[in-house]
Amino acid sequence: MTTLGEFFFNQADRFGSHICQVDANINKSETYSSVKQRSVRLAIALRKRGITSKDVILCCSKNTIDNTIPILAALYLGAKVVNLDSTLGVRNSKHLVSLVCPTIIFVEDSSVGFIESSLEQTNLTPTIIVFGDSDEYEQFSELVRPQEDEEEFRPVKVDIHDTAVMFFSSGTTGLPKAICHSHYSFLQMMTIGQEYGYNLGSMLHFTTFYWISGMVILTITFMDGSARVFCDDVDGETILKIIQDYKLSAIFMAPVYTYKLTRAENLSKYDTSSLRYLLTGGTPISPEQTKRLNNLFENGEIIFGYGMTEVGRISSFYPETNKKLMKIKPSSCGQVAPETSVKIVDPGTEEVLGPNREGAIRVKSPGVMVGYYNLDSSQCFDSDGFLKTGDLGYYDEDKCLYVVGRLREMFKYKSWHIVPSAIEGVILEHPAVKEAVVIGIPREEDGEVPAACVVLKDGCVVTNEEIERFVVERVPDREKLRGGVAFATELPKTPTGKVIREEVQKCQIMA
Ligand code: AMP
Repeated sequence: MTTLGEFFFNQADRFGSHICQVDANINKSETYSSVKQRSVRLAIALRKRGITSKDVILCCSKNTIDNTIPILAALYLGAKVVNLDSTLGVRNSKHLVSLVCPTIIFVEDSSVGFIESSLEQTNLTPTIIVFGDSDEYEQFSELVRPQEDEEEFRPVKVDIHDTAVMFFSSGTTGLPKAICHSHYSFLQMMTIGQEYGYNLGSMLHFTTFYWISGMVILTITFMDGSARVFCDDVDGETILKIIQDYKLSAIFMAPVYTYKLTRAENLSKYDTSSLRYLLTGGTPISPEQTKRLNNLFENGEIIFGYGMTEVGRISSFYPETNKKLMKIKPSSCGQVAPETSVKIVDPGTEEVLGPNREGAIRVKSPGVMVGYYNLDSSQCFDSDGFLKTGDLGYYDEDKCLYVVGRLREMFKYKSWHIVPSAIEGVILEHPAVKEAVVIGIPREEDGEVPAACVVLKDGCVVTNEEIERFVVERVPDREKLRGGVAFATELPKTPTGKVIREEVQKCQIMA
């Protein structure tokens, strides 16, 4: 088996004249051979600076023709790649950057200030390289100039079980972490598509590389030499126009974002008949939305699945052969993927449960993460080596899996993980607040929105608007209390003093 670096290098070589990537904002495209040439030049430049498999290369950029290049170059050298999103907020990113200690940070010019703030008080002094103009730092364009030994360059051989790519995530417990995928586990993700004979073809690259889906799309397009098309403006009509103009055949998009498509104005104006696959998952999807998507993409198939960044490879989905089951069981996430095992256990006793019995979902898969970077991850796995997903669910007599809730406190606003304790910590900084609990309130188009229930200190009077304003000034946009703030005289608690979130959720006290 090859390393990820060898995979990208060989495939770029193989598909030379094919279009590899398209920036639909400016209708600029680049072939595989050009991508290979620029990434090899950068790899040589990085090698001259001593970058090896021991280094971490961090990138922070929206999708452009340039931001793929450092990812490939780093992988050729066996270095570990991780991507940061500039909307994360400095508080979170400071923690994440300190966790992975990058040697080099590639950053788009508009996010240089964000990176500088994230590095403040961290003792880290990575080299900063800027996409675009910079008076202060080195520019990316200077590093992709011709090199003497380009023709002889070959990717470095590293152990395929070493970490190749990392993704930041809230993790199954505690603070955000960096999920490590090896060359092996990451390339395993691609084998499902091959097994089912999917030929996804040209794809919309909807997310940035911060998300595992971004790296998956990059890899899938390199599998068959097709084009990856991206654009900044991701409103529904723009996406439909991109599908039409570039004759895209596949999209990978979380259910909450698919409303952009089905709610777009002038739906019938665009010819989207080229679309053959809409891959979705990450949150539940309603049967009505599946129906709307089926109507919108008459020639397309909706492939809905259950996955998790830690598991890498999709855990369950409806393959083409099971279209009929999807129609009759739309609330299920399909059947377990090949070479993957799922078990449902009673989280209290560890008893393995049979069909139609709800319990904790555990997954074993060849795509599973190596672990969390620089952290002990043994607690994430049970004694049989199954990953504890932190999700609750069951399977039925047809072995269709249903995800019904979570054991862990995290919930999802759009695709973002929201960790209630992070927002609760901010609310508790307000001088009038004695106790606070944050829960997710279901909203069809957003997944779940954060809402707070607050107990005030004796004699204090504060409005919900004031708490909302206090929070909004201190958190990233996604953690805003969109679900409102309610006040209570006390919170429901267990005898040991732990807040019972489910009770708060059931109380309907939220706006
Ligand atoms: P992420 O690592 O960001 O992809 O988030 C993984 C989590 O998303 C899982 O542990 C589930 O809680 C949730 N999730 C993923 N797929 C589904 C699905 N099809 N239905 C319901 N929840 C899902």
